Amino acid sequence: MNFEFTAEQELLKKAAREVAEEVIAPRVEEMEKTKELPEDFYPIMAEAGFTGILVPEEYGGSNLGTLAAILVVEEISRVSAALGTSFQVHCLGYLPLVRLGSPELKAKYLPGVAAGQYIATGAITEASGGSDPTGGMTTTAVRDGDDWIINGRKCFISNNKTANCTWVTAVTKDQPKKEFTTFFVDKSMEGYKTGRMESKAGFHGLDNGDLIFQNCRVPHSNIILGEGKGITVAMTSIGRMGRMGMAAVGLGVIKASLDAAVKFANERVLYGKPIAHLQAVQFKIAEMTYLLEASRLLVYRAAWMTDQNVPDKELAPYVAMAKLYATDAAIKASDLAVEILGGYGVVEEYHVERYLRDARMIWAAAGTGDIMKLTVARMHLNG
Ligand SMILES: Cc1cc2nc3c(=O)[nH]c(=O)nc-3n(C[C@H](O)[C@H](O)[C@H](O)COP(=O)(O)OP(=O)(O)OC[C@H]3O[C@@H](n4cnc5c(N)ncnc54)[C@H](O)[C@@H]3O)c2cc1C
Repeated sequence: MNFEFTAEQELLKKAAREVAEEVIAPRVEEMEKTKELPEDFYPIMAEAGFTGILVPEEYGGSNLGTLAAILVVEEISRVSAALGTSFQVHCLGYLPLVRLGSPELKAKYLPGVAAGQYIATGAITEASGGSDPTGGMTTTAVRDGDDWIINGRKCFISNNKTANCTWVTAVTKDQPKKEFTTFFVDKSMEGYKTGRMESKAGFHGLDNGDLIFQNCRVPHSNIILGEGKGITVAMTSIGRMGRMGMAAVGLGVIKASLDAAVKFANERVLYGKPIAHLQAVQFKIAEMTYLLEASRLLVYRAAWMTDQNVPDKELAPYVAMAKLYATDAAIKASDLAVEILGGYGVVEEYHVERYLRDARMIWAAAGTGDIMKLTVARMHLNG
């Protein structure tokens, strides 16, 4: 077993940390107020070579793989979980093209993705329930000559305002059995609109809300993988990037919480000494530390397995474990940080209350903790 990152991965982490600390950190306060994603975020990410991190070299990307993408998400999320999430959703948005898209679709979109001209997302959730995406899906696509006409409303979509392209899963056959197809749609196509925005507890700076498809005309050639294969496209992409990405956001939140708690514990003096001398504080710091280490092991291994192209069915429980554990660890670690800071823990200026709000945002995104548990249980049990 080799637990070391490659020299390339170390360099990438360093580059992502520099972007996070030098460029993103000064914008966080403003984002908390306006809840807007900074306009220059994606140009900066493109300049750093991150937007095309999963794009093959022949289309202008760096093709560094899932673990590399995860390391970037973690570093960005240490400073802004909102922007870490936005970036991971961008990767989730174009991943189906990389893995399952036709050569024509790849050539049409991937160079623009790598250059930062296309910012992507993925849309499956509807108001009828994210955990049961097929049961209540009402978005339809109907064939019209060489095109398909999509009608419907997707909700909770990350980057719903920022992204100018998305994959979207729709019902393409109702009888005798429902069939689903996933299309790649871009904003030049009439009828693709941003709808209402959610006002959320955390992830301020990440736009989330509805995408509306109103008689949206999409060429047949923009189908990913084939008619009737839409759930495979959506769910394997969510498994390989969406859940991995949210787990990495969790890692960033845990590390940020630990750093803030350690700094405060060393500086805050009570009874004539820094509170770092109090055993109760030491226990909390220890807990945050092993939560981070255990989460990292699970997340990095699942990312490594993804890069080894482990089949989706075998991979899914490992990704689910990583997402579940890192999420719960982020909630726990940020809560402990709030406690260590005493009254300052709930003061915005000290950031840890933001980490706790952001940690809570991770639980449902890309599948709830309950759904992760079901996925893990399926390793052993049918059902
Ligand atoms: C920050 C954020 C970003 C998101 N980004 C996107 C995006 O970009 N694209 C997209 O398509 N969607 C996105 N989503 C939607 C997300 O995938 C859904 O919120 C999630 O799948 C849960 O669906 P729901 O909210 O409708 O909850 P429901 O499915 O209604 O679940 C309600 C409750 O029932 C529980 N439950 C459901 N089924 C079971 C079961 N079988 N066993 C036990 N308990 C169960 C759930 O765990 C939960 O506690 C995002 C959500 C959030 C919060």
